[in-house]
Amino acid sequence: MQKYIESLSKNIHEPDARIKAVIFFLIAALNLACAALVFYTGGTKFSYLHLFYVPIIITGFYFGSFWGTVSGIISALLIGPFMPESFEPIVHQKPEIWVFRLVFFGMVGTLAGLFSELTKAYRRMLEQQYLTDPVTGLPNFRGLQTLVQSDPRGVGLYAGVIVIKVQHISEIDKSLGPDSAEKLLKTISTHFKNIAQDSCVLSRLSGAKFAMLAHQGHSLSEILFKCHEHLDHDFIVDGIPVYVEFYYGAVETSGVDSLNDLLKKAGIAADRSVDHNMPEAYYEPQFDEQTQRNTQLLREFKVALQEKAFSLNYQPKYDLSSGEIVGVEALVRWAHPQMGMISPALFMGLAEHTLLINPFTRWLIQEALTQHEKLLQKGYQLSMALNFSMKNLQDPAILEELWMEIERRQIPHYLVEIEITENAIAHNIDRIADILVAIQEKGVRIAVDDFGTGASSLKYLFKLPIDVLKIDQTFVQAMTNNSAAEAIVRSATTLGHELNLKVVAEGAETEEQFNLLKKIGCDLVQGYFIARPMPEELLYSWLDAKKSQVKRIIPGQKAHH
Ligand code: C2E
Ligand code: CA
Ligand code: CA
Repeated sequence: MQKYIESLSKNIHEPDARIKAVIFFLIAALNLACAALVFYTGGTKFSYLHLFYVPIIITGFYFGSFWGTVSGIISALLIGPFMPESFEPIVHQKPEIWVFRLVFFGMVGTLAGLFSELTKAYRRMLEQQYLTDPVTGLPNFRGLQTLVQSDPRGVGLYAGVIVIKVQHISEIDKSLGPDSAEKLLKTISTHFKNIAQDSCVLSRLSGAKFAMLAHQGHSLSEILFKCHEHLDHDFIVDGIPVYVEFYYGAVETSGVDSLNDLLKKAGIAADRSVDHNMPEAYYEPQFDEQTQRNTQLLREFKVALQEKAFSLNYQPKYDLSSGEIVGVEALVRWAHPQMGMISPALFMGLAEHTLLINPFTRWLIQEALTQHEKLLQKGYQLSMALNFSMKNLQDPAILEELWMEIERRQIPHYLVEIEITENAIAHNIDRIADILVAIQEKGVRIAVDDFGTGASSLKYLFKLPIDVLKIDQTFVQAMTNNSAAEAIVRSATTLGHELNLKVVAEGAETEEQFNLLKKIGCDLVQGYFIARPMPEELLYSWLDAKKSQVKRIIPGQKAHH
C-alpha cells in the first residue's frame, strides 16, 4: 500500500520528460550565452563570469546534486584554460585560477542539488503524512482521492467501493485505553491488507471506517465473502479477547458517480447494515431517497419554525390516588402543507440530530408556558411537562430562557417538568449531571421518559437527581396479556417508590389496564383511556366538563404543592 502513496508523491513533484528536455536546452543555451558574453567582452577579467551561477543553480535544482556538479564543471571548463584573461593584450589565466573556479563552480552545483534534494525529500515526507493515516499507514481519504485523480480514467479503473464500519472501537478505547484501540485498529488493518492484496486499494477513511476500492476484474461479492471468512472471530488486545463487529456497505461504479458519490453511497449502505443488523448491504437508490426525504423534511422543518406552523397538543395526567387531573404533557403537532398533520415521531428524531432542536425548544417553551400561565389563571393547578432533547440541556441559553419565562409568568417552578428519554440520560450521565442538579435546584422537576426501553444500566438513578419515572407504553399496553410485562410495570413501580420517585404509566388505553395500574400502585396514568392529546380549545372544554376532577388552586392562594 505504501507504494501507492510513494508513487503519488513522486507524481506530484517530478516534472515530466518534456519539461525536463526544455529545461535542459535552456541551461545549455544559457551556458553558451554566458561563455559568448565572456568571450566577446574581452575575457575572464570582467565580472560576467558570475552569470554562470544561474545555469549551475538551475541544473542543481532540477536535476539534483550529480548533474549540478557536472554543470558547474562544464561551466568552469567553458571559461577555463582556453579562455584568456584578456584579449588585448592576450593574457592567459593562471592555472590555479581556473582550477579553483572549477572546484568552486562544481561545489555550487553540488550544494544547489543537495539543497533541492533535501527540500524535495522534506516536501515528499509532509505530503506522505498528509495522504496517509498515521496509525495504519494506509492512505486516508485525501490519499485515496489523490490516487484516483492521478489516473485520467479516475474511478473508471475500479469495479466498486466497499465501506466497512467497525463497531465497538470506542468502547474498547474507553475500557482499555487509546493505545489498545490503536493496536486493535492496526491488527484489523493487517487483516484487511491480507484480504485486499492486489484485488483492491484499502484506505482508512476516519476513526473506525475503512474503504476498499476494488480493481476492475474483481467482484465485490468475492471480496465481501473473504472479509466475512477472515474477520469472523474475536480479536486479542494485550492478552484480552475483545469483541468487534464489522458492517459492510457496497456499491458498484456506475460511470457517472465520482469517488465522493461512491463513498457516500457505500457509507449509506453500511449504515443500513448497521441499522438492520445485517452483515452487508448493497446500495439501493431508495436508501438515498430516504436520506433525501429526511433532508427535505428537515429543510421544511426549518421553514415551519420560521412560519410558526407548529402547534401543541396537551395530554392530561391523572392521579390514581386522588382521582384528579394533575398535569398535562405538551406534544408538538405539525400541519405540513402537503402531508397534513404529521406525527412528531416522524420528524422529532431527525430534528434532534441537528441544532434546529434548540430554536424549536425555545418556541416550545414560549408556547407551552403561555398556555400554562392561562391554565393557572383559570384556577387549574396543573403541571406542564416539556419534552427536552440532549442538545437542549447542553445549550445554556435554553435553560436561561426557561428560567426567564417561568419567572416572568410567575409560574411555580415545581409545576414545570422536563421529560428526557432514558436513553439520552443513561448515555450522558457525566455530561448532564451538573445541569440536572442546577435544574433541580431551581425546583423544576425531571422525568425519565420511556423508562424501560433504554439503557441496560440503571446507574443514572442514583447518580442523577430524578423526580419522576414514566414507564414506557409498550409495557403498559402488553401487561394485561403478558405476565412478564406486568412484572416489569410492577417492579418499575416498586423501584420508583423505593427511590422516592413518582411513577407515571404511559399509554393506558383500556379500563382493564387502568384498573391494573391502580392495583399495582402507580401514582399517575396518562393515555387514551383518560384522554388523547388535545389542542388548546378542546383541552379547555374537556377540563371545564371535568371541573370537579381537576386539581384546582384554592381561591385566595397561589398554586401550591
Ligand atoms: P413521548 O414523549 O413518549 O409521548 C407520548 C406519545 O405517546 C405521544 O405521541 C402520545 O400521543 C402517545 N400516546 C399517549 N397516550 C397513548 C395511548 O394511550 N396509546 C398510544 N398508542 N399512544 C399514546 P406523539 O404525540 O406522537 O409524540 C411522539 C414522540 O415525539 C413523543 O413521545 C416525544 O418523544 C416526541 N415529542 C413530541 N413532542 C415533542 C417536543 O416538543 N419536543 C421533543 N424533543 N420531542 C417531542
Ligand atoms: Ca414525553
Ligand atoms: Ca414516553
